[in-house]
Amino acid sequence: MEQHFDQGQLVGVLTTQPLDRVLDYKAPEGGCHIGAFVEVPLGPRKVVGVVWGPGKGDYDIAKIRSVIRVLDVPPMREEMQLFLSRAADYTLTPMSAMLRLATRAPGLGEPPSMRKIYRLGEAEVTRMTDTRARVLEVLRDYGGLAFTLRELAEMADVTTSVVKGLAKMGALREEDAPRDTAYPLLDPSLPSKALTEDQLAGASQLIEGIQSEAYSTTLLRGVTGSGKTEVYIEAVAACLRQGRQALVLLPEIALTSEFLTRVEARFGAKPAEWHSGVTMTERRRCWRMVAQGDAQLVVGARSALFLPYRNLGLIVVDEEHDTSYKQEDGVLYNARDMAVLRASILGACVILASATPSLETWANAEAGKYKRIDLTSRFGAAVMPTLTAVDMRSEDLPSTRWISPSLQQAVEARLAKGEQSLLFINRRGYAPITLCRACGHQIGCDDCDARMVEHRFLKRLVCHQCGETKPMPSVCPACEAEDKLAPVGPGVERLSEEATALFPEVRVATLSSDLFGSARALKAQIEAIGQGEADVIIGTQLVAKGHNFPKLTLVGVIDADLGLQGSDLRAAERTYQLMQQVAGRAGRADTAGQAMLQTYQPEHPVIRAIMGGDDEGFWRAEAAERQAAGVPPYGRMAGIVLSSPNVQEVFDLGGDMARRDGPLRAVGAQVYGPAPAPIARIRGRHRVRLLVKAEKTVPIQAALAKWVAQFRLPNTLRLSIDIDPQSF
Ligand code: ADP
Ligand code: ZN
Repeated sequence: MEQHFDQGQLVGVLTTQPLDRVLDYKAPEGGCHIGAFVEVPLGPRKVVGVVWGPGKGDYDIAKIRSVIRVLDVPPMREEMQLFLSRAADYTLTPMSAMLRLATRAPGLGEPPSMRKIYRLGEAEVTRMTDTRARVLEVLRDYGGLAFTLRELAEMADVTTSVVKGLAKMGALREEDAPRDTAYPLLDPSLPSKALTEDQLAGASQLIEGIQSEAYSTTLLRGVTGSGKTEVYIEAVAACLRQGRQALVLLPEIALTSEFLTRVEARFGAKPAEWHSGVTMTERRRCWRMVAQGDAQLVVGARSALFLPYRNLGLIVVDEEHDTSYKQEDGVLYNARDMAVLRASILGACVILASATPSLETWANAEAGKYKRIDLTSRFGAAVMPTLTAVDMRSEDLPSTRWISPSLQQAVEARLAKGEQSLLFINRRGYAPITLCRACGHQIGCDDCDARMVEHRFLKRLVCHQCGETKPMPSVCPACEAEDKLAPVGPGVERLSEEATALFPEVRVATLSSDLFGSARALKAQIEAIGQGEADVIIGTQLVAKGHNFPKLTLVGVIDADLGLQGSDLRAAERTYQLMQQVAGRAGRADTAGQAMLQTYQPEHPVIRAIMGGDDEGFWRAEAAERQAAGVPPYGRMAGIVLSSPNVQEVFDLGGDMARRDGPLRAVGAQVYGPAPAPIARIRGRHRVRLLVKAEKTVPIQAALAKWVAQFRLPNTLRLSIDIDPQSF
């Protein structure tokens, strides 16, 4: 039983307010348990908090106020408290910010909101009509169940006034019911697909792990289409059979609908969803049901990790290498690493699924910290796509076109067979550069150190850093020459234009997040493509992620060299993953696929590694390079970004921090910089970065905290610490 505090006893309450300490309060009438969600007075306000432990009593007892009330939600579990503390320690985040992540439920603690539901009533219908009859029929069909006004009207295909009319004459009975209801039960005993030998071996190993009820992390590696999803769904089934909850994290909302359909096919009902596309009402319901144990499976984005699970047994991180798992503002955390942390505290299992694992995960598997399962072949008759490099140096192509004659021919061959082709370019908008041909000026963002990108579809220039837009000017902003502004380079919209001109008779569909007003519209388009309603698909990174397009047999990568520029140590890994991922879209069940990579440097080691298909060789070479450089995953690294509207201020403080590095040197860590951050100005704030590097064995967080605490920050200056930065 959790610790209980009697009325008047001192308790320490953590609130979501940005204070760096737990505050003392007196327990309210009736007392409270540790972990209870409470409302407390803070200055003139009332705020929500959690009873974190006993009070410290180091404050004038006469001034200590009382907890106002205990909220009607399940208390925070000890395991969750521990998780939040450890995550805060690891990411050097204040506890209040961690608690905010864990309480993102609208109306938390308000009395449960009610809604009207309708069931069959006693009274006779005075005048029967078709529509009235349909409503009654629906209710009879569902024998005894009750529905909301909208549900009932929708199911009977009538207007809501028909339902209201029936209720008024007593033929329907109106009742109040809580809005937050349990999710439909998932049934793990429904039959699974017949797994292949490989898949079965993988699934059994995972299921064994789940049954042991001990912590473990497994890398589930397998090419696209090998059945990783089928295999981890069986692990989910095992977890549900134990009566424990499961969480599946996906990197992209657009992927959820396909996954939900698969869950429904396997377990007979849809799971709970948690991501930015979910309404406030649904979120509130999800948070509560997860806490009560009335949601067995949650499918969601990275923030679903912070839900108050009652009994979590499994976390799946699908496409674990995906960069969207790293939250890049507010609390800087990587959901993959936090999943492992949470599971290790809980004694739960983690499955990291990917065709192209991150080097971190690969290395952890090599070192034996993670188990590893490999699915080596595609399901059924499907074979891996053949890969070819198109040497752009010998293609005859004007500088304003990007689809080489070789690629064009290949597309035409697929069109003749009624198959789909995908042309991939990882650039949103029409053209990355808008250049004045009179003076050479390139249009940039006023507030960022970035070019404005022309978006023809929106008829505007857009800054991809801050989102600022402006109309396309007709004269050059620098020299005022008329009609001299020209697009330079390809973006997805421009490529789409080229494809439409090259293949005039066919349906060209363009998939880029900018072209869709809503997640729903995008989802509809993806589904339409999956059903074959397009011949040539032009897409950005969005299409690289696990969508299932059965008719897609050719993938053309317009610019395979794009990611290899720059000095980022992760560039090779990124390019490798992206190319494999994109190529993996080609060919499924019964059709062989082909991937063509257009490149100007076919002898580049990364391009050669991709062509050679020697994954292990690639990882080993990358690992050796990182090891030599002493960077993650073989060394520790932290990025400190200082930003301010005042450029002098950031360099001054940065310089000062670099000089007074005693606490870092004391543990053998070095500091590099300050240097302009990878993007030197965003939203009018100048940014400099310091990098701290240390041996793997050094607990760098404590040293960082001590180091940073030496400096007084001017009000205008923001400092953020990123443990394990994505680029270095
Ligand atoms: P991955 O997650 O590795 O990309 P999926 O699990 O999505 O692979 O499988 C690819 C396709 O093959 C899916 O349409 C899936 O339903 C199908 N598939 C995989 N394994 C089986 C199986 N054992 N029986 C039937 N269909 C399968
Ligand atoms: Zn900008």
